[in-house]
Amino acid sequence: MPRIYADNAATTKISQTAMKAMISAMENSYGNPSSIHQIGMAANDALQTAREQIARCLGCMPKEIFFTSGGTESDNQAIVSAAMLGAKKNKRHIISTAFEHHAVLHTLRRLKEQGFEIQLLDVGAEGNITAAQVEEAIRPDTCLVTVMFANNEIGSVLPIAEIGEACRAHGVLFHTDAVQAAGHIPVNVKKQNIDMLSLSAHKFHGPRGIGALYVKRGIELTSLMEGGGQERGKRPGTENLPAIMGMAAALKEECTLMEQNEAKVIAMRDRLIQGLSQIPYSILNGSREKRLPGNVNFCFEGVSGESLLLLLDSRGICASSGSACASGALDPSPVLLSLGLAPEIAQGSLRISLDISNTEEEIDYMLEVIPQVVEQLRGMSDDWRKKHCED
Ligand SMILES: *Cc1c(COP(=O)(O)O)cnc(C)c1O
Repeated sequence: MPRIYADNAATTKISQTAMKAMISAMENSYGNPSSIHQIGMAANDALQTAREQIARCLGCMPKEIFFTSGGTESDNQAIVSAAMLGAKKNKRHIISTAFEHHAVLHTLRRLKEQGFEIQLLDVGAEGNITAAQVEEAIRPDTCLVTVMFANNEIGSVLPIAEIGEACRAHGVLFHTDAVQAAGHIPVNVKKQNIDMLSLSAHKFHGPRGIGALYVKRGIELTSLMEGGGQERGKRPGTENLPAIMGMAAALKEECTLMEQNEAKVIAMRDRLIQGLSQIPYSILNGSREKRLPGNVNFCFEGVSGESLLLLLDSRGICASSGSACASGALDPSPVLLSLGLAPEIAQGSLRISLDISNTEEEIDYMLEVIPQVVEQLRGMSDDWRKKHCED
């Protein structure tokens, strides 16, 4: 039986390139980048090279990149920093969307408790927003717009450049959680009018526990911790150089190969979407076009998402029902509910997240097995049989 990894939105397998860079860092760049002897300075050189590589992929200056422990920390630090800057000017209104990652939503929830006003834009049935929605929501006391680049569950790609343009026109800071986008689709902070951007290495074949925050020059970052003067005083703690070098190597590789990888992954995705759409009473979640290359997300009426995952796993397919953070919970995905889906439909969801490590043969296998498993589960459901079979 094959074993297919189709949960790349939860995390990706580390690439050989990233692993080699990490081993080399541990073997050769083991000094503390803050030490002033030769071994320390060599480590500092490696750190700066990694920063330059990441800056080049994002279209910014190296000193605009801060290393963090991942997407979650980057989101927290960007949002808290913007809120602190806003509070100084008595601006406490923040605009975001209803389907952000918990790293954003829960940070906003905490700020709400501290007196900020949080406005979450409706993402509609297709799961997207427009720049006009953002522009209408902006007020004189708005201090931040934080809108994800691409959604982790339904794969929507948001109109980031236009949203950034609207924010800039009104002098409002714009942060984007680009964790699902970086390394997969073109990201350029200059062209896309982005002030702050979060990314995480393990979503593009780098290691866990490392990420970066881009902050446009001139924006004052607030440190979330007290400690040493690393990262220009904004993120204390001895730098995790092996992980940083692994992340830089992974991002550089993904950016170099992006165009050719994107085309291959989109072809696999579209074939899978086409095939699964043939299953009766299935709904494709998210838009057909403005969609991440690897994202497939369906609801199958009359099927429990959890049973579906377990049966697929027994047939060698590793997928998910929504976000990894939510699987295990029995509740339907809040992201799917934000699209206006009924809870009994939303709980029958399946997310398949592909990337360049998947193959056309794996798509064939999934197209054979998923319809069988959906039918099997429907056959076991009394409600389904009553509704659809006994007439
Ligand atoms: C995975 C993810 C995060 C969290 O990143 P970590 O590095 O795991 O902390 C944040 N936002 C989105 C959209 C994600 O997909």
